[in-house]
Amino acid sequence: LEPKEEFEHKTLAMDVMRPRRSDPPLSVLTQSGMSVDQVEAVIADTSYSGFPIVMSQESQRLVGFVLQRDLVISIENARRCQEGIVGASQVLFTEHTPGQPHGGPPALNLRSIMDLSPLAITDHTPMDITVDIFRKLGLRQCLVTRNGRLLGIITKKDILKHMAQMTNRDPESILFN
Ligand code: ADP
Repeated sequence: LEPKEEFEHKTLAMDVMRPRRSDPPLSVLTQSGMSVDQVEAVIADTSYSGFPIVMSQESQRLVGFVLQRDLVISIENARRCQEGIVGASQVLFTEHTPGQPHGGPPALNLRSIMDLSPLAITDHTPMDITVDIFRKLGLRQCLVTRNGRLLGIITKKDILKHMAQMTNRDPESILFN
């Protein structure tokens, strides 16, 4: 019996994904209902490279994924060049942008910068398979779901750290891709 192999089969995506049980919840954006100010606050309060987009906080149904740097650039551009976009404007990732709300500023639709089909695996996916998927698809991150609800995220660096732990090696020394 190979002890390492047995252990690897027992490590699942849920063991490697963030947030850990003691961490603050996953930072997500909703596909509608958040203002430019609120989105900017999420960006300012965190240092993540990206954010999953969910249908609503209640459903946590995955809609897409957006890179932090694309968000920053697009909001800055819109504030500068797009008529009427202010902090109170609603940010949308939806297919349709409703007409200007009564008295309110126009909405800012950022669907064009969203990855519409980010890769998602279930929390029960074994890590050896997850590592294979990362390698073969050249992923930077993947999302973890259960019954359609978003639970967490695994980045390439999370995988490298996990592999280093498994083999007691320096993450930098593991050749990836
Ligand atoms: P990297 O892992 O390359 O440093 P990030 O800076 O995006 O990439 O992520 C740092 C850590 O935070 C990782 O452990 C990752 O799993 C986690 N993480 C990434 N995005 C989010 C998010 N939106 N909400 C909560 N945790 C996240």
